[in-house]
Amino acid sequence: MIILDGKKTSNDIKEEITNQVKSINSSLGKTPHLSAILVGNDGASETYINAKVKACEKVGFASTLVRLPDNVSEEELLSEVDKINNNQDIDGLIVQLPLPSHIDEMKVTEAIDPKKDVDGFHPSNIGRMALNLATYLPATPAGILELLKRYNVETSGKHCVVIGRSHIVGSPMSVLMARNSDPGNCTVTLTHSRTQNLKDITRTADILIVALGKAEFVTSDMIKEGVCIIDVGITRVKSEKTKSGWQLLGDVNFEDVKEKCSYITPVPGGVGPMTIAMLLQNTLLASKKEFFS
Ligand code: NAP
Repeated sequence: MIILDGKKTSNDIKEEITNQVKSINSSLGKTPHLSAILVGNDGASETYINAKVKACEKVGFASTLVRLPDNVSEEELLSEVDKINNNQDIDGLIVQLPLPSHIDEMKVTEAIDPKKDVDGFHPSNIGRMALNLATYLPATPAGILELLKRYNVETSGKHCVVIGRSHIVGSPMSVLMARNSDPGNCTVTLTHSRTQNLKDITRTADILIVALGKAEFVTSDMIKEGVCIIDVGITRVKSEKTKSGWQLLGDVNFEDVKEKCSYITPVPGGVGPMTIAMLLQNTLLASKKEFFS
């Protein structure tokens, strides 16, 4: 069994980006700039946004964090998005999700200039992705593709089963694995909470991508020998094994499946770090204005 090491791979990618930033700096006198909007002070969102800002600093990007209170109106948030859309010094913009319930997330996503949408969530970028046109791919699915590519996991002609159909992971992942591309060219089955006989389907997977948010849901009886498993899930559970009293678990029971699979991503240290690396990659592309010219 080979561990798909997202921590190491993401560090390699960050190093490559750092070198490209240096060359953009010296040739164009420009520094890629990511702006992030954080509404409220939800603990998990704070952690994610701080990790993104720190990663920007590590590769030499400029970053701006706009903090807005929990009770900010939708109109005020949209006006903030508009300001950043029109700021020529800023290349990429992300709005940390989830937003408070009084704000329409899709309206905010659609308000972001697709050229600056480095999360790749704007409907026009999702459409470009589906048509196999150059665009910003959503960061988590892009990170998974990059891991498969860098570890030379064969995908062509394989049966890929995806568990979960969220807009940010499962759905785009199923589209990307089915595209005529490398990695890609899979026969894809997308499953969700209404899927019947899930185990019968997962047992036929050559590549199993799990993104449902239920700790240790996938067990060895659900997989076939030699499967490649990508575990996207991150659930924080109480634990007596750690100093902090908390532990992060994936959607896959790692200890139970590890002897049966050919490749697997660990949690933590698998898909998570790759997501941040791909956000940086998208921001670099935005600064080079390679798309939408
Ligand atoms: P989500 O929006 O909560 O969606 C969960 C999906 O799983 C839904 O499509 C749901 O089906 C499906 N599902 C739920 N129970 C199921 C079951 N018993 N059998 C089959 N399908 C089932 O999920 P998400 O945002 O994609 O996140 C999933 C997990 O990935 C979470 O743990 C999240 O924290 C993690 N995540 C990690 C990263 C990273 O960078 N590592 C990034 C994003 C998310 P329905 O559509 O029918 O409800």
